[in-house]
Amino acid sequence: ESVVNRIAAGEVIQLPVSAVKELVENSLDASSTSISVLVKDGGLKLIQVSDDGHGIRYEDLPILCERHTTSKLSKYEDLQSIKSMGFRGEALASMTYVGHVTVTTITRGQLHGYRVSYRDGVMENEPKACAAVKGTQIVIENLFYNMVARRKTLQNSADDYTKIVDLLSRFAIHHIDVSFSCRKHGAARADVHSVATPSRLNAIRSVYGLSVAQNLIKIEASDNDPSSSVFEMDGFISNSNYVAKKTTMVLFINDRLVECTALKRALEVVYVATLPKASKPFIYMSITLPPEHVDVNVHPTKREVSLLNQEVIVEKIQSVVESVLRNSNE
Ligand code: ADP
Ligand code: MG
Repeated sequence: ESVVNRIAAGEVIQLPVSAVKELVENSLDASSTSISVLVKDGGLKLIQVSDDGHGIRYEDLPILCERHTTSKLSKYEDLQSIKSMGFRGEALASMTYVGHVTVTTITRGQLHGYRVSYRDGVMENEPKACAAVKGTQIVIENLFYNMVARRKTLQNSADDYTKIVDLLSRFAIHHIDVSFSCRKHGAARADVHSVATPSRLNAIRSVYGLSVAQNLIKIEASDNDPSSSVFEMDGFISNSNYVAKKTTMVLFINDRLVECTALKRALEVVYVATLPKASKPFIYMSITLPPEHVDVNVHPTKREVSLLNQEVIVEKIQSVVESVLRNSNE
C-alpha cells in the first residue's frame, strides 16, 4: 500500500516547485499577510514556507496529513463554488509520502505553538509544545528521498530554484497585499522580496524590475452577456519598447494561478501582428468568472484550465488587447 501511496504522491508533487506552490496556496488560504520561502539544494534538501496566517488547531494536527480529511471536507460537496485554493485535501498528505514534513504552528490567542513531524500520512510523535510567534511554518526535508529515479532526473538544482523564484514572482504581483520573500539557503539576499503595496505597478517593479514596469499599459475589459460570457479582466501588458526573448504570461483566474494556452497563443498572435519587434510580451492578467464556469477539477499537476465559453472570452480579450496596442502605437 505504501508503494501505491508513494507513486500517487509523486504524481501530485512532481517537482520541488509543485510542493512550494501547494504550501504557498495553503498560506494564502490561511489569510497570511507575509509568506517567506527558504530553499536548499533546489528544494531537494529543504523547502521551508513560513507564514503569519491563522495557524492550525491542535485538534486538527493528527489528521492534517491524512488524505481528504482536511478541515474543508465538510464543504466538499460544493467543490465548484469553493473560493479558497485548496480543494483536494491531498497536498500535505502527498508530501509526507515523498519527504519528511515538519509543521510548527500557533493559533491566535495561544501562549505556545506545537511542532509535529509526519511520515507516510501519519504523525511520527505527539505534537510537542514549542515557542512560536504567529502562523505556520512547514518544512519539507529530503524530498523524493525514496524515489531514486526522480532524484536522478532532478540533478540541476539551479533550474529547480529558478522555477521556485518564478512561481513566487507570479504570486507576488497578484497578491499585492501580501509580502513575499524567496531565498536560497546561505544567500545573503532574497531573490524575491516584495513588500505589500496598494500599487500593482510597484509590485511589478519590485519583482520584475523597472525595465518591465516602465513599459506596461493597463488593460481592462468586462462582458456581462449571460448568454455568451460573463467575466471581468484587468491587467498590464507590455508596449512596443519591451523586447524579450520569451513571453511571460502571468495569469490568475478567480485568484488561482493557472495557465491557459489558448489565451496565451491568441495574445502572442496579436503582438506579432501589431508590434512585431516586441512580439514576446510581458502579460499580467487577472480574470474573474462565475466559479461554475471554470473547470478546476483537473489533474493536480495540471495548471491548465478550461473555461466555459472559452472561445468567446479569448476573442473578446484578444480584441481588447489589439485595440490597446494599436492606440499605444500611434
Ligand atoms: P487542502 O489545501 O486541499 O485543504 P492540504 O493538504 O493542502 O489540503 O492542506 C490540508 C489542510 O491543512 C488545509 O485545508 C488547512 O486546513 C491546513 N493547512 C495547511 N497549511 C496551512 C497553513 N499554512 N496555515 C493554516 N492551515 C493550513
Ligand atoms: Mg492546499
